[in-house]
Amino acid sequence: MAQALRQEDFDSVRVRDGAGLRFEVADEVARLGCTKALVLSTPQQCDLALEICEALGDAAAGVYSKAAMHTPVDVTEDVLSHLSLSGADCLVAVGGGSTVGLGKALAYRTGLPQITIPTTYAGSEATPILGQTENGVKTTLTDAKVLPSVILYDPELVATLPVGMTVTSGLNAMAHAAEALYAENRTPETTNLAIQGLKDLAQGMPKVVQAPDDLDARALTQRGAWACGTVLGRVGMALHHKLCHTLGGTFDLPHADTHAIILPHAIAYNARAVAEELAPITEVLGGENAGRALYDFGKSLGAPLALKSLGITEADLDHAADLAVQKPYPNPQPVTREDIRALLQSAWAGNVPA
Ligand code: NAD
Repeated sequence: MAQALRQEDFDSVRVRDGAGLRFEVADEVARLGCTKALVLSTPQQCDLALEICEALGDAAAGVYSKAAMHTPVDVTEDVLSHLSLSGADCLVAVGGGSTVGLGKALAYRTGLPQITIPTTYAGSEATPILGQTENGVKTTLTDAKVLPSVILYDPELVATLPVGMTVTSGLNAMAHAAEALYAENRTPETTNLAIQGLKDLAQGMPKVVQAPDDLDARALTQRGAWACGTVLGRVGMALHHKLCHTLGGTFDLPHADTHAIILPHAIAYNARAVAEELAPITEVLGGENAGRALYDFGKSLGAPLALKSLGITEADLDHAADLAVQKPYPNPQPVTREDIRALLQSAWAGNVPA
């Protein structure tokens, strides 16, 4: 049974930022009163996980480096079988949303405290949301147990993100803020936080695309990602996230690219109902309307624009539309199968959003 969230749950997360902070991970483990940490990563970031192990010294319980996108439940179960043997009493997740997701899935099942060291802008570390995939279907749950105890934002770690992923991951973060602007349960505080996140990313992303090693700009984008992730954790998700969960979970499309492509279309769709709420997007990015502003911003940074470039076929769109209208998330603009099919067609082709 999911635990209800309280303000204290969010406030209890220790958030630090600074270049080289990853080397202080052993102090953070000790501060939690723990003695051994299992380090989690993807196979691609195993070297980084080993660097964290070295920084942990005697507090390292080993590395599990098979984290995978969309948090497959069979991977989580595989780690669980290693976890007790490892003697770990806490977890360190170093990586993007996939690795952070694995840490959350383990914390949900074991109650172990987690330290997260994010290396993308996905923002999962700041939310009490766990998305998991089983039998080709992605579901989400919200529980205080999945919030990390500590988040270490080290800008040196996002500086290694390839430019393409910098752009798509930044747009993934902006998607959290964009949907927060019209969330049913938004408050003035969540709206301000969403606008701050949008501003930081709109300002920081062009800089880090130009100069990937600019650590001040990287830190700005990380602050933006934290704001966007935090706001996602405090309000409900709507059509944009539903579409991305459907496309990611069922068609195994890459998470950040999918967000980057769908965002202008989902926002243009909802602008029919809540243009005024979406005005901060054009205030931050310029342009005439929110959907077009996001499309042009992504295009100017070289973001992918067409779903077909991710390998999904036109024939798949019917199935995607069927799934996307099942158990819809609350949304300001009514969701019909016909409209969603048209939205997907436009995003598939890479058209300017209608
Ligand atoms: P990811 O974690 O899957 O990373 C993609 C690839 O990039 C991986 O191979 C990874 O090892 C590599 N990578 C990550 N950081 C790197 C770096 N700095 N340098 C070089 N390579 C790097 O991608 P993601 O987009 O961060 O995360 C996607 C996952 O996060 C999805 O499963 C999504 O559902 C989840 N997510 C969850 C929430 C939530 O609140 N629950 C929020 C956002 C995303």
